[in-house]
Amino acid sequence: MNAPTRVPNNLEAFWMPYTANRQFKSNPRMFVAAKDMHYTTSDGRQVLDGTAGLWCCNAGHSRPKIVEAIQSQVAELDYAPAFQMGHPKAFELASRLVQLTPQGMDHVFFTNSGSEAVDTALKTALAYHRVRGEGSRFRLIGRERGYHGVGFGGISVGGIVANRKMFGTMLTGVDHIRHTHDLSRNAFSREQPEFGAEYAEDLERVIQLHDASTIAAVIVEPVAGSTGVLIPPKGYLERIRAICDKYGILLIFDEVITGFGRLGTPFAADYFGVTPDLMTVAKGITSGVIPMGAVFVKKEIYDAFMQGPEHLIEFFHGYTYSANPVACAAALGTLDTYHEEGLLTRAADLAAYWADAVHSFKGLPHVIDTRNLGLIGAIELESIAGQPTKRAFTAFLNAYEKGLLIRTTGDIIALSPPLIVSKAQIDELAGILTDVLKTLD
Ligand code: PMP
Repeated sequence: MNAPTRVPNNLEAFWMPYTANRQFKSNPRMFVAAKDMHYTTSDGRQVLDGTAGLWCCNAGHSRPKIVEAIQSQVAELDYAPAFQMGHPKAFELASRLVQLTPQGMDHVFFTNSGSEAVDTALKTALAYHRVRGEGSRFRLIGRERGYHGVGFGGISVGGIVANRKMFGTMLTGVDHIRHTHDLSRNAFSREQPEFGAEYAEDLERVIQLHDASTIAAVIVEPVAGSTGVLIPPKGYLERIRAICDKYGILLIFDEVITGFGRLGTPFAADYFGVTPDLMTVAKGITSGVIPMGAVFVKKEIYDAFMQGPEHLIEFFHGYTYSANPVACAAALGTLDTYHEEGLLTRAADLAAYWADAVHSFKGLPHVIDTRNLGLIGAIELESIAGQPTKRAFTAFLNAYEKGLLIRTTGDIIALSPPLIVSKAQIDELAGILTDVLKTLD
C-alpha cells in the first residue's frame, strides 16, 4: 500500500468539523492507512480503533468484500439518478435491508448521512399526517441530550445547547422531553439501568401541554451515543411506545449508532423488543466506507402516500445521491461481510466479556460511572470544577499516544470498537485505558 507517511505542509485550507482547528493544527494527529482493527498514523504507529471510526466502521477497516464491491461498481455504473430512473442494486439493497428490519418496516428511503436521514424521517412523519387528512399534527418532540445530526430538523429536535445556540432560528413547533441519565440512582449499571422508566411520563406532560391532536412524531435514540452513552432504563422505551400509540403519534427511533449490530441484534428495536414507526440509520449501513443513510418506514406509512390525494402522491423529497450505485454496492458488500462473519450478533456473544472490561475502570481516579450495552461502553469522569479543560480530552490525547483511539463528549469517554474486535484486543484496549486513567490529574 502506498500510503503517504507525512503530514501535509499546509493545514490551513481544510476547516475541520467539530474540531478546535487552531489547537489541532498546532499539534496534528493523522491517520494514513487502516486495516481491520487498526489505524496507521503518519508517524508509522498502529492505533487500535476503540470507536469504529465515528461509531461507523462496524466491520472493521478495508474489508475485502466492501473494497471489491466498490471497485467493480464504480467501473461498471458509477452514477445513475434515482429520480424517475432506477438501477438494479438500489432495489436489491432495499429488499435485503427490509429482510433485516423488524417485521412490518418494509420500505426504505435512501439518504447520504444520518443528518439527512433524520430530516427525511421528520418530513415523512409530517407529510404522512397530511396525506391522511390530519394536517393539524405539526409538532415534533425530541429529547434533552438527544443528538440527531446537524440539519435544521436534527438540531431542532436534538437537545444539545452547543449545537443550537450559534444558529438562532430553529424549527418551530418543537418541544423536548427530559433525558433519562441519572447517576444518583443508576451509577455503575450493567446493561440497562434499573430505575427511571417513569421518565417516559414526561411525554404525557408535553402531550397534555400541546394537545395530542397537534403532535406528529416523537424522535429518540434508543441508546443516545454522541451525548455520552445514555442507556434507557428498563421499561422506558416500552412506555414511550405505549404513549405514542395511545395518541396516534408516530415514534421515530434514530438508530444511526445502534443500527447494524452494535447491540448484538440487527437493530436496537430488536434488542428492546420495541418497534418504532420510522427508523433512521447511516454509519454501519456501509460500515462507514461510503456516505449513506436511510429511513425505514412501516407499510402503513408507505401505503398512505401511495393511496393519498393525487396531488400529494409524489413525495417532494430526495437527494441527487439517494441510492447512489457505489454506495449501494458498498452497502451490499457490507451486508455480505456482516452475514458471513456473524457480525450482527457478535456483540451479543462478546457482551459479558465487554461488560467486565468496561466495569474494570470502576475505582480508578475520577471515575464516577461506568456503563455498557452490547458493544458500547462509557466511562464518566468527574469534571474539574469551573475549568473548560476536560479530563476526558486529556485521556483521549494520552490514549492516542499510547496507541488507542477513544471518543469523548464533555467528560465522558465513549467506546464502541468494530464488531470484529477479539477478546485479546478488548484486553489491550482496557490495559491502555487503565494506564491512561491512572495517570490523569
Ligand atoms: N443521529 C445520530 C443518533 C447520530 O449519532 C448521528 C451521528 N453521530 C447522526 C444522527 C448524524 O449522522 P451524520 O453525521 O451521518 O449526519
